[in-house]
Amino acid sequence: MTPTVPFDVDGKFHGFLKLPHSRDDSAWGHVMVPICVIRNGAGPTALLTGGNHGDEYEGPIALNDLALNLEPSDIKGRVIILPQMNTPAFRAGKRVSPIDQINMNRAFPGDAKGSVTQKIAAYFTQTLIPMADLVLDFHSGGSTLDFLPFAACHILDDKEQEARCSEAALAFGAPYTVKMLEIDDSGMYDGAAERAGKTFVTTELGGTGAARAQTVEIAKRGLRNLLQHVGIMEGEPETHPTQKLDMPDERCFTFAETGGIFEPLVDLGARLREGQAIAQIWPVDGTGQPPSKLIAGRDGLFVARHWPGLIQSGDCVAVLAVAVD
Ligand code: CA
Repeated sequence: MTPTVPFDVDGKFHGFLKLPHSRDDSAWGHVMVPICVIRNGAGPTALLTGGNHGDEYEGPIALNDLALNLEPSDIKGRVIILPQMNTPAFRAGKRVSPIDQINMNRAFPGDAKGSVTQKIAAYFTQTLIPMADLVLDFHSGGSTLDFLPFAACHILDDKEQEARCSEAALAFGAPYTVKMLEIDDSGMYDGAAERAGKTFVTTELGGTGAARAQTVEIAKRGLRNLLQHVGIMEGEPETHPTQKLDMPDERCFTFAETGGIFEPLVDLGARLREGQAIAQIWPVDGTGQPPSKLIAGRDGLFVARHWPGLIQSGDCVAVLAVAVD
């Protein structure tokens, strides 16, 4: 993996991480991962990524906008922008890479001698994460989920680090801010950045395999707010009311045990009671069969749902979250 941009020179540089990838249609070809580095003297470093999953668009749009418009004179320190972390997946409009079928967010810490996705992950672990103070990774629901827009951080063993991450997630200024307990972070970029001691923030901003005007605006504002929060940009973060949410246990998650047509009975943002029906699934094999009902496992706010119209057994149907203070 070879960068075509310098990391330690003042100025603004657009280029690529070049990864040799010899294949049928390009004998001496490369995977070209777009990267923009903006540096102005000493100061903190922000590592900003989108396209970890290739079918999520708010992050890539906001990061392309930032790379185009942010100038060295606007900052102190360094901003490293990669709008399409898993470029092969992003170019295919897919969650996982079509080259090796690997989910970038299950590939960490990566393998410098592995497949394309594993090599990109290894470059982040070994080279990019160590440079950073703040790591922001944009996600949305992709083609098969839709979320109420939130910024998130994790419950961590190191409470000082957890407080830093929590303050940064709040500074992002999304309509909702979530603290998540990641039961198994093995393979995740989140865990790789957190284990390196970094201030880490992630998001879920909508979904359905496309962006919305409202969620793109939240992403652009969140970027500015975070750069101001860590002192890379001047000024105070633009404050917006945010509802703090927890996802305390597995009863927040409902999964389908049959396949069929997905009929939501409530929409995102609904306040549900334990035992209330969230959705039902109609069989597709003929008429005369009742739908199977899917029930809320606890009281909570309906923050994520299945997308699109058909559902398979095992799919995530709904996620509930609980309001705190
Ligand atoms: Ca995602």
